[in-house]
Amino acid sequence: MTLKMVYSFTEGNAKMKALLGGKGANLAEMTRTGLPVPPGFTITTEACHAFFHSGNRITDDLLAQINLGLKQLESDKGQMFGDPSHPLLISVRSGSVTSMPGMMDTILNLGLNDETVEGLVALTHNDRFAYDCYRRLIQMFGSVVMGIEGFQFERLLTRMKKNLGIQQDQEVTAEGWQQLISEYKQCVKTHSGVEFPQNVHDQLKLAVEAVFKSWHNHRAQVYRKINRIPDEQGTAVNVQSMVFGNKGDDCGTGVVFTRNPSSGENVMFGEYLINAQGEDVVAGVRTPQTIETLKNILPEMYDQIEQVCKQLEQHYKDMQDIEFTVENGKLYVLQTRNGKRNAQAALKVAVDLVSEGVISREDALQRIEVSHLDQLLHRGIDESAVTDVIAVGLPASPGAAIGIVAFDADTAAEWNKAGKQVILVRSETTPEDIHGVLAAEGVLTSRGGMTSHAAVVARGMGKPCVCGCEGVRIDLQAKQMFAGDRIVEEGDWITLDGVSGRVIQGAVPLKEATVTDELLQILQWADEVRKLRVYANADNPEDAEIARGFGAEGIGLCRTEHMFFSPSRLAVMQRMIMADSLEERKIALDQLLPMQQFDFEGIFKAMDGLPVTVRLLDPPLHEFLPNLSELQSKLQSSDTDEEKVQLQQMIRKVNALHESNPMLGQRGCRLGIVYPEIYDMQIEAIFKAASACIDRGVSVHPEIMIPLVGDVSELKILRELVDEVAEQVLSADKKRECRYKVGTMIEVPRAALTARRIAAHADFFSFGTNDLTQMTYGYSRDDAEGKFLAHYLDKKLLPHNPFQVLDSEGVGQLIDLAVTAGRALKPTLKTGICGEHGGDKDSIAFCHQTGLDYVSCSPYRIPMARIAAAQAAIEHNNQVEKQAEKQAEKQVEAKAV
Ligand code: PEP
Ligand code: MG
Repeated sequence: MTLKMVYSFTEGNAKMKALLGGKGANLAEMTRTGLPVPPGFTITTEACHAFFHSGNRITDDLLAQINLGLKQLESDKGQMFGDPSHPLLISVRSGSVTSMPGMMDTILNLGLNDETVEGLVALTHNDRFAYDCYRRLIQMFGSVVMGIEGFQFERLLTRMKKNLGIQQDQEVTAEGWQQLISEYKQCVKTHSGVEFPQNVHDQLKLAVEAVFKSWHNHRAQVYRKINRIPDEQGTAVNVQSMVFGNKGDDCGTGVVFTRNPSSGENVMFGEYLINAQGEDVVAGVRTPQTIETLKNILPEMYDQIEQVCKQLEQHYKDMQDIEFTVENGKLYVLQTRNGKRNAQAALKVAVDLVSEGVISREDALQRIEVSHLDQLLHRGIDESAVTDVIAVGLPASPGAAIGIVAFDADTAAEWNKAGKQVILVRSETTPEDIHGVLAAEGVLTSRGGMTSHAAVVARGMGKPCVCGCEGVRIDLQAKQMFAGDRIVEEGDWITLDGVSGRVIQGAVPLKEATVTDELLQILQWADEVRKLRVYANADNPEDAEIARGFGAEGIGLCRTEHMFFSPSRLAVMQRMIMADSLEERKIALDQLLPMQQFDFEGIFKAMDGLPVTVRLLDPPLHEFLPNLSELQSKLQSSDTDEEKVQLQQMIRKVNALHESNPMLGQRGCRLGIVYPEIYDMQIEAIFKAASACIDRGVSVHPEIMIPLVGDVSELKILRELVDEVAEQVLSADKKRECRYKVGTMIEVPRAALTARRIAAHADFFSFGTNDLTQMTYGYSRDDAEGKFLAHYLDKKLLPHNPFQVLDSEGVGQLIDLAVTAGRALKPTLKTGICGEHGGDKDSIAFCHQTGLDYVSCSPYRIPMARIAAAQAAIEHNNQVEKQAEKQAEKQVEAKAV
């Protein structure tokens, strides 16, 4: 039996999206429910796969099925394709499974040629209209199918209007269009080397091929990458009989949303044009009217559209985006789909639909696209003030920033020290630029993608970033940046919008993040269904407070090394590292202790009543010292003996600490075992802070986390140290009750493999999936992202960047194994994740499935993580229910047998 690859609109329904694409499935559904949809048929996504498999060729089988579909359409319409006296005209449009608005191609008015256009003239008694349709076909066909640049046609159209002394397309006469038709045909011949096809069946075949091929065009590929749409999906093609909105003043075309897609308000929102065809609205040739004005012009039509909106929204239980055409006073619906909306509108529509009784709370939660919450939860741009967008790049890290341009990291750091707001602008960043990124309000790069170094680092630091902005060129020598014909000098103000990727000249006013009532409502519903707890990665009292404000239920990772990076503390840290003897080192540690204690007190207070997971020092010590080349150049320019001696000492130390591979070197617990006095100080600071807080009535729950354990013996020895120091501090002047936990990060594969033994000495496991991913794949993240990962992703060797989306197959297997083994020994073992994946929706779903207790992510990601955790729980329940249903069905079948 041959595969059915063509379905009439009367054969499908809304559930057949995977096969018919979103548009095809909805056209079929609307046809089924009796809405006025012009008849047509859908060529399936399976046909698209077959097309690609046979080397971009429409097979004879598919062609035969298309011709059958066409025959049926001819009989439905009582018109023949290519008939000079009664021509059937059709549109050919793409329709992917997941909506990709505007990403692929459409061709209207197929079926017109030199003969049939005369038939259309005779039928409609409207030569102006008929010739206009024909020239539109040549224009669309020429650019979409024959690959001729659109401006070639636009140029001819503009010249013709100029010669006729007119401005608007509607003023062009039939003769004007006829003249343009012959110029367009000549243009096609000149630029493609072949004539515009007069055979209408050739037109159709070529158009279908072009739409299939448009699946691979550049903008569609980029859209899929950003929206994580699988390349394998392919597109369906919809062939539909034409209706015309450009036949006269009782005709028109438009787009209407059933609710406002920017605010979510429950009022119709849309635009239309009288006497126009669909692409006029999109092309912006004429300014469309708002839908409310139709009330006065064609009141009956307005009422009908309102009725259709209500009907479709009720049917699909969601806000719809509807395309319509009015032909001689009759309304046709050409498309409906769930309307794209911004984050604020998405929340309002979801909450309103629940209160209107249309959907359940679970449905509302499932509808929230968590990645869009970034728009709400970061500082944004006051749109009314945006005037001067000079370039657009990739929206790599959300939020908006203003600052003066610095072209190198040192300048950025220096200006920041002097109290200036800086935007770091580089062609790309490397780990050497890290101090500049740290000092900057935001980062702009002209090269590199969403996983480039700049993007990853900025996201990690919660700073806005626009990267891969190819529209800007940087001249480092002249200290200038060029964007089109604009020049930005070092020190000029610019604004970055990390949500849209815009680079704006000047300082645009910013708006603070907004937590709306609707968001609070959705979050409350999320909290009711989720199983995972959501903790924050926070290293200071301010971040801890922000995190709590966003609903953090504790801190899952406090990276204590971040407490040593401010200039005054760094100097003490460096003295500690430079110390030649234990005594000397202890003097420096004694100075560091109150600094850490101060921060811990602030964090415990902010997290009163909630657990705070403090990780003991993790990075290799050389990270706190300046780099070698910097020291050497300072030495060369130094003119005091004392400074020279100091610099030489530091160079000796840097050389001594040098490692071939610091990621796998003396860091984490290895450091604490070789220099126990460092961990000793940190533990003392934690418990002194805890004691002080307890005395002030704060409820403190410290959880001490030992990093990078690979062998149980490492944890055992350090746990003893924690217990010993805790005992001493907590009972120093009086006995204090402080229930604390000691656990480990699982970042080394060996720790996961020997989890059962490790669990004997751990109260909790926290999966450090950044390092666990590095070590499981054997990739160093900086090198991978800087060198080969983008290539791997392009070649589809990996489905995602494993540093962003958890590799459930490999890294996930280790997590699952460790959780199972650990809990087998110790059922009360607490488990969570604190790598960057803790803020990623798909990774959160994995954590739910694996039964972890919590995820920990950066403060601004907490609302998103709460919703993602709820979505994971709902999805999981749905799967379980479906399985149970299947099981029950099988049992009934078995009984029947
Ligand atoms: C990790 O490795 O996942 C982790 C959280 O530690 P860091 O990113 O600080 O190495
Ligand atoms: Mg780590």
